[in-house]
Amino acid sequence: MAALWRRARLPAVSGLCRTLRALSGKNEYDLLVIGGGSGGLACAKEAAQFGRKVAVLDYVEPSPRGTAWGLGGTCVNVGCIPKKLMHQAALLGSAIKDAQHYGWNISQPVHHTWSVMAQGVQNYVKSLNWGHRVQLQEKKVKYFNIKGSFSDPHTVRGLTKAGKEIVVTADNIVIATGGRPKYPTHVAGALEYGITSDDIFWLKKSPGKTLVVGASYVSLECAGFLTGIGLDTTVMMRSVPLRGFDQQMASLVTEHMESYGTKFLRRCFPTKVEKLEMESDRLQVTWKNADLDTEETDSFNTVMWAVGRAPDTKTLNLETVGVKTNSETGKIIVDASEATSVPHIYAVGDITEGRPELTPTAIAAGKLLAQRLFGQSSELMDYDNVPTTVFTPLEYGCVGLSEEAAVQRHGSNNIEVFHAYYKPLEFTVAERDATQCYMKMVCLREREQRILGLHFIGPNAGEVIQGFALGIKCGATYPQMMKTVGIHPTCAEEVTKLHITKRSGLDATVTGC
Ligand SMILES: Cc1cc2nc3c(=O)[nH]c(=O)nc-3n(C[C@H](O)[C@H](O)[C@H](O)COP(=O)(O)OP(=O)(O)OC[C@H]3O[C@@H](n4cnc5c(N)ncnc54)[C@H](O)[C@@H]3O)c2cc1C
Repeated sequence: MAALWRRARLPAVSGLCRTLRALSGKNEYDLLVIGGGSGGLACAKEAAQFGRKVAVLDYVEPSPRGTAWGLGGTCVNVGCIPKKLMHQAALLGSAIKDAQHYGWNISQPVHHTWSVMAQGVQNYVKSLNWGHRVQLQEKKVKYFNIKGSFSDPHTVRGLTKAGKEIVVTADNIVIATGGRPKYPTHVAGALEYGITSDDIFWLKKSPGKTLVVGASYVSLECAGFLTGIGLDTTVMMRSVPLRGFDQQMASLVTEHMESYGTKFLRRCFPTKVEKLEMESDRLQVTWKNADLDTEETDSFNTVMWAVGRAPDTKTLNLETVGVKTNSETGKIIVDASEATSVPHIYAVGDITEGRPELTPTAIAAGKLLAQRLFGQSSELMDYDNVPTTVFTPLEYGCVGLSEEAAVQRHGSNNIEVFHAYYKPLEFTVAERDATQCYMKMVCLREREQRILGLHFIGPNAGEVIQGFALGIKCGATYPQMMKTVGIHPTCAEEVTKLHITKRSGLDATVTGC
């Protein structure tokens, strides 16, 4: 029996379900995954490879502004994919400026049309939604477009759009419901007039003059591409940018954004958002400036909140089955094997406490979990040395410890930081400023000088860091890095030539070839 469809009231259905299960001694599925995003789909598809009977539930609650999307989760629909494509749109704008220095005749002024970009990005995302559905079908994974809620530790129920009730039972259940953007609760008009990253990529018309509130990577990345496509963009931050990342690198990222045209309102926090009556598409934002102790206002076409994300557990009914969550974050507590406090219930991805909120870690954790459940594997996900990149106009890629974390863990006398300011070759003819093109490698000082962290700001930072991440994962040392032959002329080769220590106080500017 694939699923029990009933119109009767829920308690009766789950009661019936339990009775049937008790009679047959069997659940319908070997694995049920709640959440069809990066982690959930990877886990479900991997389990199906082992010939197991697998079901996935995925349901997208529309954003407060009414934006909704298809199968694939945050990354595909409102995260990595549309974000990187819009970042690419902005990079092309810079490339057009560079191109003139390289002899291309481009008639001025050059305009960007939001609707063309948005349509292209949205069409691509829709093709990915379709691709995910096809893959599930091919792998014989049953897909239900319903919002799942536990009724007992082996039973999940939900309603279809048509109001039909579905009850699914499974031996093992994986929760992979991710998170959603938060709205500030104390700012009048925030929910009524603001949007979030759940909406920005799906706007049909340009957001116009935009205020992005927050200092997270989501905030800076969105502000970066909006500036890059020519929109008047302001970032309002209460505190430090990119908390959790190396703070020297974070400062360079925002410094570059400022020189690129993004405005910053530092140590400011909004108090209200109002609609200007005369001009209906303009919002007036009032904020406090903590440094000047003043109240200030300005008007914008769009206010985007990027003030963090909240785990999506509301309707899961976790308390009923006893799945423990962290009372502060609301995230699900898991052990090294992604097991929750309830036997046979697991969790992966953004919903889990203490894990990086990244697609590749969610995917890897989901796959490994399926292998442990059904493939006689005991391999655990290793969350150390996970590389990542912030796709701001000048990208920032890193792997391993920040300088602050290395100092905290090992003490400043026991670490050596090699660093360099460099100029990408492509910036020279284009007369681009390279003030913030910087890299540093944080190493242990003693014995073999193991590399603890690598940080790189410059073009294609993600591509640069990815390969070095392998070396660092394998325990690479500073002398081994120095024996690595660079590829000339690239930005990445500068990593293999790092020789000035911060401790020396010598000028770290790379000169010559
Ligand atoms: C703007 C932005 C940019 C990002 N950029 C990057 C990047 O460049 N690189 C990177 O690695 N990561 C990036 N991320 C993070 C990445 O998207 C997430 O880490 C990843 O999607 C997490 O996957 P997940 O499986 O945990 O959850 P999700 O992908 O969020 O999937 C969860 C799914 O479960 C569904 N769901 C929730 N509750 C229920 C329920 N009760 N029943 C049924 N379905 C339910 C949700 O609707 C969703 O479809 C970005 C995120 C954002 C917001």
